[in-house]
Amino acid sequence: MEFDMHGISPEHEGKRLRIEFTDGEVCEGKLIHLATCNEHASCCGIIFDMLATNQPEKHKRSFERSSHPAIWSEIEFVRNFEVIGD
Ligand SMILES: [Zn+2]
Repeated sequence: MEFDMHGISPEHEGKRLRIEFTDGEVCEGKLIHLATCNEHASCCGIIFDMLATNQPEKHKRSFERSSHPAIWSEIEFVRNFEVIGD
């Protein structure tokens, strides 16, 4: 069984994306890795270097460690995205 990756593919790795999440958060980030799994929805997701977000409070602890923290999100929480740069 394959899960809906919401249009994100390995070709997007390394690109700068604007990602809208189901909770209303909008991030700009560089996609580091697209994780896929044929068996578990919870294994499918993205790791990206966070460059900007409209909900910085949600990532307060991550931003204390790095100005561009690596963030994991399960793919099911991605509403849509667009490529904004290389
Ligand atoms: Zn899995």
